[in-house]
Amino acid sequence: MTLQTHGYVTHSATSELVPFTFERRDPRHSDVVIDILYCGICHSDIHSARNEWGWTQYPFVPGHEIVGRVAAIGNQVSKFKVGDLVGVGCLVDSCRHCASCDDGLEQYCDNGFTGTYGGEDKIGGTPHKMTFGGYSDKITVEERFVLRVPENLDPAAAAPLLCAGITTYSPLQHWKVGPGQKVGIIGLGGLGHMGVKFAHAMGAYVVMITTSPKKGEDAKKLGADEVLLSKDADAMTEAQNSFDFLLNTIPVGHDVDPYMALLKRDATMVIVGAVEPLTKVSGIPFIFRRRAMAGSLIGGLPETQEMLDFCGKHNITCDIETIAIKGVNEAYDRTVKGDVKYRFVIDMATLKS
Ligand code: NAP
Ligand code: ZN
Ligand code: ZN
Repeated sequence: MTLQTHGYVTHSATSELVPFTFERRDPRHSDVVIDILYCGICHSDIHSARNEWGWTQYPFVPGHEIVGRVAAIGNQVSKFKVGDLVGVGCLVDSCRHCASCDDGLEQYCDNGFTGTYGGEDKIGGTPHKMTFGGYSDKITVEERFVLRVPENLDPAAAAPLLCAGITTYSPLQHWKVGPGQKVGIIGLGGLGHMGVKFAHAMGAYVVMITTSPKKGEDAKKLGADEVLLSKDADAMTEAQNSFDFLLNTIPVGHDVDPYMALLKRDATMVIVGAVEPLTKVSGIPFIFRRRAMAGSLIGGLPETQEMLDFCGKHNITCDIETIAIKGVNEAYDRTVKGDVKYRFVIDMATLKS
């Protein structure tokens, strides 16, 4: 038995997303079936739908910022009951026995995690070999990979926490960002606006580093203490050697040297955006002042739950524009242009109309 599911799909790198009917597996003993209420549009959905990273297989159903309510559970599910508000992020499976999985860092699984979309479906139970994402009305997920969403949060505005939220929360926690530190968040998009909110909530002095002068005022409303325009060469020079930490969300390869030069001695810049080659990386900013550059991938299940609970406690959600699913193609174009404040979220009830 399988669950008939309605969603949106793309069939090639140059096609638009269109309606699609496919099958999900019926719940096994430890599975949760979720009626999806909302799904955020992450820039990774766009990179993947358009095969910009070269690994996409079609048909492709994007979406890994999923919030919904539990519709059914398997007989061994212990953490959830029907009706619970839950979320699914970028992972739906991993090997569960390697050192990273043992540490709750499933995103770094030594045997490869299964992405919520476009991953090899190792569980099966449907005719498809690939996983299909959250631009759809329901999803079946093993309970280990399902998160509890605090009921006090607006479910639409909570959806992007499942990727944009954890991707920024995790490095800020890992590098121990906190009071007394000057922290720069580079790029004010879906990830960047959450980076500003989290760094502010963690007590840091936050600088929004943006290419867009118009976004400056917004950044202050989100919690930034200061705005630095990366296209203003004089301002960038003046800010050199002053940052304790930088979180870089720029979605494409770029020259990192001007950003590295902003770091103090021994400080780190973490790349989360650019999967492509960084176009220029000189050894000079590393060698002089012992600076470091690192990367970070989303977050494991325990830390994602910790982030959601942190958001529940501090009432943190994302700034969103809710759209009907038929507007998804236009939303993609607007996201690429940086024309969204600051995350599009699809209202999945609009799939029915
Ligand atoms: P987004 O909403 O499009 O935001 C990216 C922001 O970067 C833009 O709003 C813009 O901000 C800035 N930007 C864009 N192009 C730029 C350029 N050429 N030079 C300098 N700045 C530029 O994207 P997102 O959803 O936040 O995702 C950001 C990146 O992170 C994407 O590549 C996505 O695939 C990746 N990602 C990684 C992970 C992970 O686990 N590591 C997880 C999720 C997403 P300003 O207008 O303020 O300059
Ligand atoms: Zn994402
Ligand atoms: Zn593993």
